[in-house]
Amino acid sequence: MLLLFDIDGTLMSGATRAHRQALHAALGDVYGLADPAGAHVDPAGRTDMEIARAILLDSGVSAGRIDDGVMDFRAACAREYSRLCPPSLAEFVIAGIPELLEELARRPGVTLSLVTGNLEPIARLKLARSGLGVHFAPGQGAFGSDAEDRTELPALARRRAGADGLPHPRQQTILIGDTPRDIACAHADGVLCIAVGTGPHGSEDLGDADAFAPDPARLRELLLGRLTGSRAAVD
Ligand SMILES: [Mg+2]
Repeated sequence: MLLLFDIDGTLMSGATRAHRQALHAALGDVYGLADPAGAHVDPAGRTDMEIARAILLDSGVSAGRIDDGVMDFRAACAREYSRLCPPSLAEFVIAGIPELLEELARRPGVTLSLVTGNLEPIARLKLARSGLGVHFAPGQGAFGSDAEDRTELPALARRRAGADGLPHPRQQTILIGDTPRDIACAHADGVLCIAVGTGPHGSEDLGDADAFAPDPARLRELLLGRLTGSRAAVD
């Protein structure tokens, strides 16, 4: 089973300050935006470039200019994040997540991977500084640097987890995330989604998910039920 975890709101909570600062600094560096924080864009569930584009359009930057600066923006954002990221992000890891990942990683036939809107260098540093990086192999997962549209990411993560030239089967894949956008991207690829209530959304916003876990303890029950073939645990 391939388990595709979102990061912010799913594995970690509140570790977004340096990330937001880096994104805003990169918007200033590359596009000359004086006040990126002035545009109010809800970042939850969006890819980094999607957030940047919304801020830029709101600030009157043309789509053509945005596209011309994408590569420079990504590089600047990753560079700024590595400068701004605190030495430890351990305090932002959601309680119960390290134990859950360790338990899942020990199970035969389980592959832990990522689907996140974070640019990959930012995601990797965030996980390394939180102590969770060890569970997520390089070369695996899909990130905001792979596509601006989150709905493209699960299929890409499955391709990277595949064998013999075939993507990992969607029937053997579960995506875990905390926003309606996570649910939408899972379903766009036809994979199961377990929504978690550890981000900004409650169960009332996440009703389209195949299952809902308010906390990592319930997430553990749902995943273990699924891994042992007990569909009833999720259905
Ligand atoms: Mg999230």
